[in-house]
Amino acid sequence: MKELFDEKLLYCGSLGHNIPFKYCRSMNSELPCRKIKDCWFERIDIEKFIEENYSVSEQERIFAEPPDKISTILDLIKKAQGK
Ligand code: SF4
Repeated sequence: MKELFDEKLLYCGSLGHNIPFKYCRSMNSELPCRKIKDCWFERIDIEKFIEENYSVSEQERIFAEPPDKISTILDLIKKAQGK
């Protein structure tokens, strides 16, 4: 059940304030933040939560390395040029 830990609060170093688990598990187009394991492992069994609630392909999407900034900028330039 994805909602089990929704009310638990944690300080988010990225946002600079406390946020509920519900935000962490849904902030990436309804998928969890890619840092969710690092942030929550001391508070809940986050490995079990991920395994029970997300398919293998969803987990791959959740924890995929983000594209570096230069690649993203070059892709945007190519799109703007119609390539
Ligand atoms: S999982 Fe993401 S949103 Fe949640 S506390 Fe960690 S960095 Fe912040």
